[in-house]
Amino acid sequence: MSYVIEGRTGPWEIVVGLEVHAQVISQSKLFSGAATAFGAEPNSQVSFVDAAFPGMLPVLNREAVAQAVRTGLGLNAHINMVSRFDRKNYFYADLPAGYQISQYEHPIVGAGVIEITLADGSTRQIGVTRLHLEQDAGKSLHDQHPTKSYIDLNRAGVALMEIVSEPDIRSPEEAGAYVRKLRSILRYLGTCDGNMEEGSLRADVNVSVRKHGEPYRTRCEIKNVNSVRFVMQAIEVEALRHIDIWESGGTVQQETRLFDPNRGETRSMRSKEDAHDYRYFPDPDLLPLVLDEAWVAELKAALPELPDAKFARYQQDYGLSAYDAATIIDDMFRARCFDALVARNADPKDSANAILGAFSSKLKDLGIDWPEVLSPDWAHLLEEAAAFLAAKAAGRISNASLNTLLLGMGAEPRGAALEGLIKEREQVSDTSAIEAAVDAMLAANAAKVDDYRAGNVKLFGFFVGQVMKAMAGKGNPGLVNEVLKARLG
Ligand code: MN
Repeated sequence: MSYVIEGRTGPWEIVVGLEVHAQVISQSKLFSGAATAFGAEPNSQVSFVDAAFPGMLPVLNREAVAQAVRTGLGLNAHINMVSRFDRKNYFYADLPAGYQISQYEHPIVGAGVIEITLADGSTRQIGVTRLHLEQDAGKSLHDQHPTKSYIDLNRAGVALMEIVSEPDIRSPEEAGAYVRKLRSILRYLGTCDGNMEEGSLRADVNVSVRKHGEPYRTRCEIKNVNSVRFVMQAIEVEALRHIDIWESGGTVQQETRLFDPNRGETRSMRSKEDAHDYRYFPDPDLLPLVLDEAWVAELKAALPELPDAKFARYQQDYGLSAYDAATIIDDMFRARCFDALVARNADPKDSANAILGAFSSKLKDLGIDWPEVLSPDWAHLLEEAAAFLAAKAAGRISNASLNTLLLGMGAEPRGAALEGLIKEREQVSDTSAIEAAVDAMLAANAAKVDDYRAGNVKLFGFFVGQVMKAMAGKGNPGLVNEVLKARLG
């Protein structure tokens, strides 16, 4: 198979593997009780363990382990019942211990798989090699003082899951789909908030190129890319750089690079170190991590419904199109609102149309988003929408009235007034009333009726519109059409 970026890769195939660092949702850090909230005063969330004071001992956070197990289960991955923590040794000013506690040969989660969907609707399975737990480092601040650098250790020791993919990705588009799908699974699981702007999800992108059917060539790793768009752009420019080098007779050097989105290029950061440079060894302060079968089974039983299962259910049980199902599911909170409407017995197809149409525009007017709809302050929106959808399903109101009613929702709950609002828009299904309106309209438009009978069939729509107008929009559209056809036929 050949993947071409706007026709510029020719015989070259792009090969990409991703290492995604996902910050674990947890009240405290991986080995200390310090808090993890984003945006706190620098160095206000640092324990003696995080600052690596002599003699301090790490204590493993059970919730961080549970989150890693949940994530492994959500990625259909093998859970390793015994894993181990290792020290990865390197010096950096924002790493006070001189090593990062990570997992090397025995990660907590082994092989799994993520299914991605591409723009043309086709799917591909991307292998997940492993997931391991490790500490985040602190942050160096170089722009606060002309001659000094500052260190903020709030992030030091925060639990990360490093999720490593197989080199199965073959284009920028597939990489984008992979990161979006992974982020969506993590959000549904509640194990990472996926906020790339805040750094809670960042990707190291390994890129190489090869001629089709050849062995892999040298790869470069682009560090800490923090948006889906940048991941895709970085792969594109890096692959083209490799192709230029190989085609001009040069050799790509293995190295770590940075992506500069402003200049649209990657540049060298340092020559790539190998694992042995880090002198990994088992952390003598921590026992091997042994999981309990029953506890893992409990975590598995409590997993929420994940995007793939929802996608299948929305199509099979509710008859939604793949496009509508995917669009609703793309935002976890929107999917929860949809589920909430269906749980209130609303018709699934009408609910999907409402969620993707009038309900959605209403939220923009109100300046809120789907998470707020699930909060107590706005719970009446779901109640009102369910009542209107029920009226539509019962044939009491037309689709146009349903949309008008949805667009009329506001900050104040209307409670008992709802039934009155529905009554005002109740459609007339009384055939004699519709016949009377049709006859009156035909009599008032005699010339157009002659025109229609002479072959100008486009006028039918005009007639329907006139009847609906005369009936203040309440005529049952199906019956209006039927009566008109009979009279004109
Ligand atoms: Mn890492």
